[in-house]
Amino acid sequence: MSYALPHVERITPYPVTEAALDRSIVKLDQNESPYPPSERVIQLLANMGEHVMRQYPDAAASQLRETIAAHYGLSRERIVIGNGSSELITALFRTFIDQQRTAVMPYPTFALYQVAAEAANAAIHFVPTHDDFTVDTEALLNTDASVIALVNPNAPTGRLLSRDEIETIVRRAPGLVCIDEAYMDFAGEEHSAIPLTLEYDNLVVLRTFSKAYALSGARIGYAISSPAIIRAFEKTKTTYNVSSISLALTVQAMQDQSHMLGIVTAIRTVRDRFITSLRKIGFQVIPSQTNFILCTPPARQGCPDAPQLVHLLADNGIAIRYFNVPRLQDKVRISIGTEEQMSILLNLLHTFYPNI
Ligand SMILES: *Cc1c(COP(=O)(O)O)cnc(C)c1O
Repeated sequence: MSYALPHVERITPYPVTEAALDRSIVKLDQNESPYPPSERVIQLLANMGEHVMRQYPDAAASQLRETIAAHYGLSRERIVIGNGSSELITALFRTFIDQQRTAVMPYPTFALYQVAAEAANAAIHFVPTHDDFTVDTEALLNTDASVIALVNPNAPTGRLLSRDEIETIVRRAPGLVCIDEAYMDFAGEEHSAIPLTLEYDNLVVLRTFSKAYALSGARIGYAISSPAIIRAFEKTKTTYNVSSISLALTVQAMQDQSHMLGIVTAIRTVRDRFITSLRKIGFQVIPSQTNFILCTPPARQGCPDAPQLVHLLADNGIAIRYFNVPRLQDKVRISIGTEEQMSILLNLLHTFYPNI
């Protein structure tokens, strides 16, 4: 007997990978940064006093919100901090959708949305992306869903919608539009929908410190929107939802933009070289604006298919991601690591898929 509500019983849990306790594993499965965070973050962490543990954090997260607000030229009433942007995704369904309304999203997309919807007893109507995985914006707009949510650039496809396309959606949508920009740092700030939040009061943009800022473990994300929407998020969030430690660390990370931009440049360079090499081996690769790629191994007699490749690489200490869901079953997702990590991977791929 679980005693849980029926809709909770029906939830399919988000597939979590086991924590890599073995540091020799090349982790290319969770889109984490292979590079460390800013030196300012590392220094602060090393010198933190005991009060950060003894006292409650600032529930308003004022300093971090001020720092983000200053960076984007916004007022802090337009920002709410979450325990990772995952918490804000959960909050989106609890606060704006629940069992009374429906969200619409492109398919495929980040699997956490489905879990968050099921937990809130809400429904997502999925609209298939085109054959090349670009988003079908007309189809997204042609439903009567109260909330349109999309990830831009999308995960796990890496595809980017332009700011003009996003603006069209926001302008024509009958209700709320949520754009999850977890990977926008890699695509470039010029594509971000954040400036549009000043013009449209139905737009929510989600960002995170987990990817380009190399702070997945700190668990800090944020939403930028109109003050009224931010107040609604604040009403439903847990009062002390993020730790003093993480708040202080992310202030430093945000203030060291050049470190984050350095990570982005390194990832883009390694990614583009890696894609070229993969194509030479016969992989099909979807163009990516992120720190990961979605690709199809060559279908050759005697060579591993996608799920077999994941197992073979795991046996060799390299973790990549497989999604056993429609349209992704012949593909794998590979996070971009350091140049050295990618060359270890490429060497193995050359032996699995020898040139004919
Ligand atoms: C990684 C990721 C997030 C960020 O999750 P956090 O909770 O901030 O670590 C959000 N959305 C997508 C699509 C992601 O890939």
